[in-house]
Formats: sequence, C-alpha cells, structure tokens
Amino acid sequence: MIQISEKCVGCGKCVSACPFGALSLSNRKAVASAACTLCGSCVSVCPMGALSLPATGAVKKDLSSYKGVWVFVEIGNNGRTSFVRPVGYELLSKGRELATQLGEELCAVIIGSNISGYFAEISQYGTDKIYAVDSPAYQQYNTLAYANAMITLIRKYNPSVVLFPSTYVGRDLSPRISSELFVGLTADCTGLSVKQGNLIQTRPAFGGNIMADIKCPDYRPQMATVRPNVFKKVVTTPGRMAAVVNETVSVPVKAGTVRVLETHFDPVSAKDKLDEAPVVIAGGRGMKDKAGFDLLENLAARLGGAVGASRAAIDLGLKEKEKQIGQSGVTVASKLYVACGISGAVQHIVGMEHSEVIIGINKDANAPIFNVCKYGLVGDAKQILPYILEGLEK
Ligand code: FAD
Ligand code: SF4
Ligand code: SF4
Repeated sequence: MIQISEKCVGCGKCVSACPFGALSLSNRKAVASAACTLCGSCVSVCPMGALSLPATGAVKKDLSSYKGVWVFVEIGNNGRTSFVRPVGYELLSKGRELATQLGEELCAVIIGSNISGYFAEISQYGTDKIYAVDSPAYQQYNTLAYANAMITLIRKYNPSVVLFPSTYVGRDLSPRISSELFVGLTADCTGLSVKQGNLIQTRPAFGGNIMADIKCPDYRPQMATVRPNVFKKVVTTPGRMAAVVNETVSVPVKAGTVRVLETHFDPVSAKDKLDEAPVVIAGGRGMKDKAGFDLLENLAARLGGAVGASRAAIDLGLKEKEKQIGQSGVTVASKLYVACGISGAVQHIVGMEHSEVIIGINKDANAPIFNVCKYGLVGDAKQILPYILEGLEK
C-alpha cells in the first residue's frame, strides 16, 4: 500500500488523483485502502511530498494462503441442448498437470441451472473438487451475475491460479474479475507451466515475433485465458467422482440492468466450424485465386471437412476473415490438417500445430510448414490436388 508520511496536510489532491479510489481523507489526513495497487499516480501530485511507494521487495503480500488451480467450466448452448464446452476439459487436463506440480488441488467452477448432470464427466479429468453455483437465476449467462459469483468464491477460497476459456464468455468475464481483484490477466496463452511456484504464462508478443513468458509473482490468483484447442483433453481419473461443494451466491441487483431479449444460434453445422471440424483443408497465398480455393472446397466436401486459410490468403480476399487460422484467427486441432500453398509462418503454426496428422503441399521443399508435417508433398498444389480428388473419386 502507498506510504503516507506525517507531512500530509489533508489538502485532498491525491484523493482525486487515484484511479482506483484507494485514497480518502479522515481527520484531515489522507488514508489508503486495500484497493491501492501501488500504481504511483498519486506520488507526484502531493505538494508536500508526503506520499511514497514502499521500497521494492518490502511490499510482498503473504501468498501462502492461496492454494488450488481453478478452471471456469463454461456451459454452452446450441439452441437444442446445453453442454460443457470442450475447452473446459482441455483446461482441466492442463490444470491437472499444473496442480500436481504445485502440490495443490484441481478445482472446477461451474455456474448455471440444473448442472449436476455434468459433474461425472468433469470429474474424469483429474478434478479433485467441483464448486457449483446452481440456481435458475444463472440459467442464462449474465456478465455481472457470473462475475459476482466468481469473485465471491475466489475471495472465499483464495485459489492460486484461475483459468478461463478464451471464448466470448471467458473473454467477457475474466477481465471483470481481474480488475475487481486487482490482479493481472494474461490473454490467449499458448503455454502454461510452473516455475518456482509461479504460473508461467506463455503467449506471442511483439506481433508474434517472440514468445513471452509472463509471471505474476507478487499477486494472487494468477489468471489466464486459453483458446479452444490449445491443450489436449486427457482423461486421467475415469470413474472417479470429485468432491462437490455447492455454493449459494445471490445475484446482485445491478445484474438486472442487463436482460437477454432474444438469442440467435449460429446455424453453421459442426462440420463447417473450423475449431470443431475433424478435417481442415487450409489454403495460403500459394493457391493464388478462386480456382485454387475451389479445389480446396472440393477436397473438403469429399472428406467431410471445413476450409480455412492463412492470413495472406484472407488478405487476398480468397476466404472470409472468420476462416483465418493462426495467432490472430481460429486455433484448430483437427484429426487431419492439409496445408496447401502455406509457407508455415510461426503465426500460422500456433493455430494448427496440435492437429493429429498434418499434410503439407508446397512447391518449396524448404518451406517451414514441412517442419510440423507428418507427410509432405513437394510440388504445385494446383496440379497435385486434382490427382488426389481423382483418386478419392475412384
Ligand atoms: P506466404 O508466406 O507468401 O507463403 C506462400 C507459400 O506458398 C510459399 O511457401 C510458396 O512456396 C507456396 N506456393 C506458392 N505457389 C504454390 C503452388 N502453386 N503450390 C504449392 N505451394 C505454392 N498468418 C496466419 O496465417 N494466421 C494468423 O493468424 C496470422 N496472424 C498474424 C499476426 C501478426 C501480428 C502478424 C505480424 C502476422 C500474422 N500472420 C498470420 C501472417 C504470417 O506472418 C504470414 O505472413 C502468413 O501466414 C503467410 O501466409 P502464406 O503462408 O499463405 O503466404
Ligand atoms: Fe491510488 Fe496508485 Fe496512489 Fe495507490 S499508488 S493510492 S492506487 S494513486
Ligand atoms: Fe496529504 Fe499529499 Fe494527499 Fe494532500 S496530496 S492529502 S498533503 S498526501
């Protein structure tokens, strides 16, 4: 917390300077609250030089009471049925590894209405405990209601790590929670590990030219979001049931300021959804034109897959923006990924490298895409693809 010396004359200038509302006046003296983040904005404002930041190293919070790796497990709905979004299982699988390394429990947090049917499946990913907030009031996602429930539980149980999916809901929810708790949040991590008791959050930085390792050694919980398909789902405790802790958290009145009037569901079939498709046929600048992409569409139709593209192909207008695969697009983890006329820039690779079988078609034998391929075909994709289609036809 900011240090306030005897020099303070109670002028109040620092109070309005604090962006976190952490300062107030009491008995004509400034007082700081726990909301102080040590941002330092108030220090230069004080005409008396009464404010100072504590010397580095002297402000360490006692973190020993923060224990447990938590995963926010999101319930999805496709208009017909509700289900646990698979990314929840992916995060639990990674969370299991982290919890074991930290010597802590792996806990799932699930908020919704009538959710007990999901507990058995959630338990199979090495989950030790499930915190459940089950009430009709949580039937539909509401930012303020869900954030309040998460914050209440986090303040009650002090987890050391909280992971969120990088879905619409996860991206909406996690920053609200981190700002309320005054902790950091690393978005779209591509790797998570543990070093000296800290969560190492790896993600591309500086335009994807480097991978940055981010840690938050002085604050808890450590919070991160991860996109679907970055980690693999691994069932580690089949048949085991996690301990369930039912929590009641009332919905704050202010949550009523947002009401869902209508819901529209995406009509795209699972086969066409890049992040769920079992087969992805991707094209790059090397496919050159619409005729090149028509070949990819034919192959995808034949194999029951979806067509995606590199950013260069999107920039050429060969595919819609939402079909971009890579760092600034969708992350896929298909059973089969065919990369045609794609060089294999790191920004593309991070979005598809977890696919099971990767086939590259490129006329440059030294193209980096071949470093992640199981099979590589060196040649003109526009000549090779018709042969493959013909073979499949037969
Ligand atoms: P190129 O690099 O131009 O490669 C074309 C390839 O096609 C070459 O290897 C060539 O040998 C081959 N080729 C040419 N003709 C033929 C043929 N007839 N038959 C077979 N092969 C042929 N990129 C993404 O894809 N996704 C992202 O999300 C993404 N995000 C980015 C974010 C940032 C911040 C930045 C800076 C870049 C990002 N990029 C992204 C761009 C990325 O760096 C590359 O520029 C891009 O992936 C290159 O696309 P490409 O492989 O299609 O094109
Ligand atoms: Fe407010 Fe920042 Fe000063 Fe703390 S250091 S009291 S957060 S302005
Ligand atoms: Fe005290 Fe300085 Fe704040 Fe004025 S600006 S109330 S003197 S700490």
